[in-house]
Amino acid sequence: MHQVVRGMRDLFGSELSTWQRVERCLIEVATQFGYEEFRTPIVEHAELFNRGVGENTDIVGKEMYVFTDRGGDVLTLRPEMTAPIVRAAIEHNLVRHKPTTRLWYLGPLFRYERPQKGRYRQFFQFGAELLGSPHPEADAEVIMLGADALQRSGASGITLEINTLGSPASRASYRQRLVEYLQDNLQQLSADSQRRLTTNPLRVLDSKDAGDKTVIAGAPVLTDHLDTESQDHFGAVLALLDSAGIAYTRNALLVRGLDYYSHTVFEFTTSHLGAQNTVCGGGRYDPLFSMLGGSDIPAVGFSIGVDRLLLLIEQMEGGFAPVPSCDVYVCAMTDAARLPAQLVALRLRRAGIAAMTDLQRKSGKAQLKDADRTMATWAILLGQDELDENTVMLKNLRTQEQRAVSLEHLLTEIQRS
Ligand code: ATP
Ligand code: MG
Repeated sequence: MHQVVRGMRDLFGSELSTWQRVERCLIEVATQFGYEEFRTPIVEHAELFNRGVGENTDIVGKEMYVFTDRGGDVLTLRPEMTAPIVRAAIEHNLVRHKPTTRLWYLGPLFRYERPQKGRYRQFFQFGAELLGSPHPEADAEVIMLGADALQRSGASGITLEINTLGSPASRASYRQRLVEYLQDNLQQLSADSQRRLTTNPLRVLDSKDAGDKTVIAGAPVLTDHLDTESQDHFGAVLALLDSAGIAYTRNALLVRGLDYYSHTVFEFTTSHLGAQNTVCGGGRYDPLFSMLGGSDIPAVGFSIGVDRLLLLIEQMEGGFAPVPSCDVYVCAMTDAARLPAQLVALRLRRAGIAAMTDLQRKSGKAQLKDADRTMATWAILLGQDELDENTVMLKNLRTQEQRAVSLEHLLTEIQRS
């Protein structure tokens, strides 16, 4: 027996119907904000992420699916979407043609992580990237988009946590102080955090280790060490969120894992998903364009973990509700009616009505049972009398009422109700 790859999932049935509904909501909101879809290949040069995400991050250091192709190129299944979008924006000169470029994406990502609830090796992200504006209005716009997208998709019980990392220069001076403080408390730190001290010291701040947390509680706070420009930027973002009525919690320990962030960082979290509690992560990443060899272009974005969003919605809605497979199920009550039944179904479909017929040559009674199973609103019964008279029996499966309708009037009859 062949089995699906560990940490990856087949999606189907009512779960997938709910995915589709959620994806439509996300796309609809992004479109209303003026964002356009952008699709990049699933495979990129591994070097893109080594440069853009950073070798000292978990994503690049431990989680990438890297392989050498037959031509000797070192490629990887994409582990995140921001670096590919920026790669493409540089390659196509997007921002020169459109100084404010608004993009959304939706697709699979791959990370070799320990699979558990809400954490998979293939997972999906829906995200938005706003390229070209350095101003706090841009940060506010993507946060508004994220908040509305999550809300419209049916998620609730979500908290927006927000912080600022400041400009790269002011962060560098803070990093110095933080490292000094952590050095003084080295013995109390976990092995992971001791290692991060040299590779990615800010990352120590969001350690989940109990010992680390005690040390962190006394650490210097980043927001106290920012230059005025960084403080003004953050203040303006918060003021915009206040006036838009978007609630947030400031979290001075929120740093996010990647090297490319600056200024605003944020996460939408929920208390309903246990350890995998972050549904969406985002922030400003002004340094990334130049890290990838482009000109200096400011940008801000977020990505929603669609798998986790679906877990949350499943909890909110008490499961995945089945959806009807069609509007009308056309039953052939005699053998002679089987082909005419298919033709009636075809006519309905061409008029935009979802219709199905039996393909197992079942009895009329069994077809009516199938009609109920599909959750169709209507059944059409086609027997010898109906064939002779050019009519059909139209049955409302909700009320069980039925009456003869001429073929001619069938469409208007169904569309009317
Ligand atoms: P975490 O701390 O949970 O590992 P992350 O910081 O690695 O998250 P990001 O790189 O910011 O996550 O990705 C954005 C979102 O994508 C996350 O908030 C989460 O909802 C989702 N996500 C990340 N990794 C996975 C995964 N392995 N399986 C499912 N969803 C994921
Ligand atoms: Mg992770």
